[in-house]
Amino acid sequence: MQQTIYLDNNATTKVDEAVLEEMLPYLSQFYGNPSSMHTFGGQVGKAVRKARSQVAALLNAEDTEIVFTSCGTEGDNAAIRAALTAQPNKRHIITTQVEHPAVLNLCKHFEKQGYTVTYLSVDSQGMIDLTELEASITGNTALVSVMYANNETGVIFPIEKIGQIAKEYGALFHVDAVQAVGKVPLDMKNSTIDMLALSGHKLHAPKGIAALYVRRGTRFRPLLIGGHQERGRRAGTENVPGIIALGKACELAQEHLAHIDKERELRDYLENGILAAIPDCAVNGHPIQRLPNTTNIGFKYIEGEAILLHLNHYGICASSGSACTSGSLEPSHVLRAMGLPYTVLHGSIRFSLSRYTTRQEVEEVLAVMPTIAERLRALSPFKNDQADWLQERQQATVSS
Ligand code: PLP
Repeated sequence: MQQTIYLDNNATTKVDEAVLEEMLPYLSQFYGNPSSMHTFGGQVGKAVRKARSQVAALLNAEDTEIVFTSCGTEGDNAAIRAALTAQPNKRHIITTQVEHPAVLNLCKHFEKQGYTVTYLSVDSQGMIDLTELEASITGNTALVSVMYANNETGVIFPIEKIGQIAKEYGALFHVDAVQAVGKVPLDMKNSTIDMLALSGHKLHAPKGIAALYVRRGTRFRPLLIGGHQERGRRAGTENVPGIIALGKACELAQEHLAHIDKERELRDYLENGILAAIPDCAVNGHPIQRLPNTTNIGFKYIEGEAILLHLNHYGICASSGSACTSGSLEPSHVLRAMGLPYTVLHGSIRFSLSRYTTRQEVEEVLAVMPTIAERLRALSPFKNDQADWLQERQQATVSS
């Protein structure tokens, strides 16, 4: 069987062997309910408490500030809804144009409910301008919700500066840190963040488990109303095996953070190798303020999906910025917001590494990429003579 080279870790990650080992007994042996009065359930409750401490330690937060959820989307939804419900008289939200749909579509939903939403723009490197935030925030702003790091480009926003501005105006500050947790050090004790969402499947825990950090003292209204689990902040019997897994995954992530530069070096090796070997390609996103595992590269005059199919042929998993919806190829909203040229919008590939990525795997990608690019460019209808026309078409699309 062909070996898989998995460079799509921003989509999801492999469950770490040690994480799996830790969680398995809670699927078979220790199946008690952590809320039960008996010793059997009590043992499980103790393990859940340990996991909560492991998650809190990664964020430098208090155990009581961690609420287990089912996914990053739930955490984002719970935080945003809680912030709005707690401040019914404030009707303004600030977010960015490049958020994950978990935030963007919820903000659009609230816009239909009568809220005013400011979607901060980004520059060609995917970075926001703080003066735009300062110009739009008012005493009526209930919430500033921004992502820590972008899932497509890896661009990291100036979180603490954003938080300081939010605090000056009395707005709550929610951060979608689903892509950042485990890749950058976080310190909630010295932060302006009120609520922060993370997701297990992005850091080598299974799908279906996640957590929301809620700063002590933050007025919070639960999304799920029912039992008193999670101190009344998230009803429903706990996903115990998932929680145990997330705890272990956070412990391992903390250890890995000490070696994160190795991952960055491997990413740079891949990125520099591609840029050196293939003409007409460039990195999308800020060159420095970026996650250590992510590179998003725009290949002019080639369809991203075609590159992906060719990579797939070699067992290489990556991702394109475009989402294919009902037969039409929609360019990524993130790359569009960055105002990139039409051919780059359609020819961008994201490679996202993990602690399991090896130099050998990167070498294999570097060995096939130039041939793939050359072959596809030879067939490309987008090539050279059409580039001006495409640029004009892109400008027309963006301004429409
Ligand atoms: N936010 C960001 C930045 C993401 O990348 C993702 C997932 O890709 C999510 C939120 C949603 O997380 P989940 O898949 O756990 O719902």
